[in-house]
Amino acid sequence: MTRTGNTGPRPIAIVAALHAEIALLLQAMPDERRVRVAGRDFWHGHLEGRDVVVVLSRIGKVAAATTAALLLDRFDASAVIFTGVAGGLGAGVAVGDVVVATELLQHDLDASPIFPRHEVPLTGMARFATDGAWQQALADATQQVLAKPDAFLGDSARREFALGAPRLHRGLIVSGDRFVSTAAESTALRTALPDALAVEMEGAAVAQVCHDFGVPFAALRIVSDRADDDAHRDFERFVADVASRYSEAIVRRLLMAGTW
Ligand code: SAH
Repeated sequence: MTRTGNTGPRPIAIVAALHAEIALLLQAMPDERRVRVAGRDFWHGHLEGRDVVVVLSRIGKVAAATTAALLLDRFDASAVIFTGVAGGLGAGVAVGDVVVATELLQHDLDASPIFPRHEVPLTGMARFATDGAWQQALADATQQVLAKPDAFLGDSARREFALGAPRLHRGLIVSGDRFVSTAAESTALRTALPDALAVEMEGAAVAQVCHDFGVPFAALRIVSDRADDDAHRDFERFVADVASRYSEAIVRRLLMAGTW
């Protein structure tokens, strides 16, 4: 593979799975330049004065892993930040809350009895940790945004989704190639992985690729549903009216704050 020929600073990669999650970020980039690789649009430019590459991974672990490998090999990203939505699993992880990952695991990976359940064969690892400094910076940026939800969300969105005082949680996020949308399935996940706070479909794949490349990774997920029988309800409107606004605000604050 050839690199993009970029001779400037290594860009920070911002990745999301759904279009609405990156649309506002793209609007805030003054100079984005599209580079199309493997059917994906990588938007290279500046956000809050930082060199960034923003990309839609599309949904699922394979799509996310492919995107991550390209970001690291072709674009030489210095760090990868994933922003998106997830189903809440942990007690007290409510719709509108934000989860910052400390570690990620593939809940649908099972090569037992040859390898322990959830372990990525031949790595000896099931859980992939996020980078400590980026994780802390993401948590700080999230706290600042959640302290003033009125500044980012319209009244009607807050009322419609009954968002009270959104909270930040930090802990395990699990990923798998399934939209978890029944109470039976989320109960099974909670039983197998009692410390899991949220479930989504990409994060652990990106974490594994970043681990292989030795590049820092951090992830944030806004809770869009409780991964139960109501999970599909109003999903798209929540992403458009709430999650994408939080996501934009948190990522911009993260970039403003850092000394990266
Ligand atoms: N019904 C949606 C499905 C999108 S898939 C649609 O029509 O567009 C869900 C996306 O949000 C994935 O990228 C995943 O990472 C995340 N997600 C949100 N809630 C989830 C849940 N309950 N289970 C799995 N992934 C979830």
